[in-house]
Amino acid sequence: MTRQTLLLLPIVVMVTACAKPTEEQRVVRDAASALGGADKVLAVKTLVIEGDGTQYNLGQDVVPDASGQTWAVTDYKRAIDVPGERARTQLARVPKFTYWQGLAAQRQVQGIDKAVGYNVGANGAASRVAAAAADDRRAELLRHPITAVRAALDPAARLTNPRTEGDESIVDVLTSDGRAFTLAIDATTKLPTRVTTAANNVNLGDVIISTTFADYQSVGGVQLPARLTTKTDDFTTADVRVTKQAVDTDAGELAAPPAVASASVPVPQPPNVTVEEVSRGVWLLAGGSHHSALVEFSDHLMLIDAPQNDARTLAVIAKARELRPDKPLTQVVNSHHHFDHSGGIRAAVSEGLTVITHQGNVAFFEEMIKRPHTRVPDALAKNPKPLKIEAVGDERVITDGTMTVHLYAAPGEHSETMLMAYVPRDRALVLIDVYEPGAGPHMFLRPFLEDLKKRNLRVERIVPLHEKMVPYGQMVKDATSN
Ligand SMILES: [Zn+2]
Repeated sequence: MTRQTLLLLPIVVMVTACAKPTEEQRVVRDAASALGGADKVLAVKTLVIEGDGTQYNLGQDVVPDASGQTWAVTDYKRAIDVPGERARTQLARVPKFTYWQGLAAQRQVQGIDKAVGYNVGANGAASRVAAAAADDRRAELLRHPITAVRAALDPAARLTNPRTEGDESIVDVLTSDGRAFTLAIDATTKLPTRVTTAANNVNLGDVIISTTFADYQSVGGVQLPARLTTKTDDFTTADVRVTKQAVDTDAGELAAPPAVASASVPVPQPPNVTVEEVSRGVWLLAGGSHHSALVEFSDHLMLIDAPQNDARTLAVIAKARELRPDKPLTQVVNSHHHFDHSGGIRAAVSEGLTVITHQGNVAFFEEMIKRPHTRVPDALAKNPKPLKIEAVGDERVITDGTMTVHLYAAPGEHSETMLMAYVPRDRALVLIDVYEPGAGPHMFLRPFLEDLKKRNLRVERIVPLHEKMVPYGQMVKDATSN
């Protein structure tokens, strides 16, 4: 008999013996009854859920509030060992984007075994995921009616704040091992309608992740939802339509592969910032996956892109100041709103930089700067500064006589709110994501080059914010060769 089974034995006794449940216990008991009874819920050992669905591209769509970029998900299978707190999800997804680099199905296998999160690659090799991803997957274990109500029935769980909102009765749950979630049930049917958990997002800060349950069906003596829709705040991230599900069937091997379980948790490496001179007063600050560029004017410095997160952007800012300690770094040009390229904007604001971005991003960045980051306080939460932001329409020239940079709206296949920077003196074009030298095919490149021709720029060098600098001719060659 496992420790978990021992712990659960008193629950049934307590549920029947306790004459007057509290209001918060009432919500949980009603949910358990509607699902088929507390004893049935507590007896569920495995869940195997199969279906298809849709995934959305939070933070990577063509404009900040768009949700048109989706993946069609097929072969979805999620197997859960309920008492063992293990799950494995496998699926195939095909991008349904207007523009995409290749349309082959991507296969994913993601697992969680208590605190150990892992992915299984196409070659069958498993790798352990970072602590934050494992935490997300542990929280995800609770985003199902059976696992959530089971956790809430645990006498060691703390139930608080019972309330009614609209058609839902709601209770907050803190599990015995410290995981917090909110359970909402339908006031009439008493079936769970949603489970929400609080989380941190690098760009958005405090977010609520919710999974709503619908289309309940009777399976193996309990009620299970046939539709599960997950959102980050108001943005839908995944929609699963169940075609087949079973209780207590063989869920397969759900233990983390031994090599993964014994592997250490990957920790983020300190950012490495290298300096490469593009020309006099222009540098490429690389050293990781996401680069920035630095431009020197007569009385100040201007950064192009504040990518990834606080750590990367603060290291880039420090390097820029080290390079020209006598000139203040006052501006940052944001290439586009995608989360990997705007993840350091809050850090840049905390360092007093003025943000220059495409006009289509202004409202989004204003909101991003205002958002609370209480769960994981970032640089701006610790050092609040007001946002100074300047919008660019089709073109803006930044010049002081010694240096001139033209900012242009870039053609919109990758992002409709994207800027590129041109230094006419050096005939150098700083760009991002439409072209990555060496990594083909370049889906966005041909329309990009056609648009570039209309600008009549005499580009000789490409300074990409991923990969290495190349002559313009290389980009033209790559556009025609695939
Ligand atoms: Zn992008």
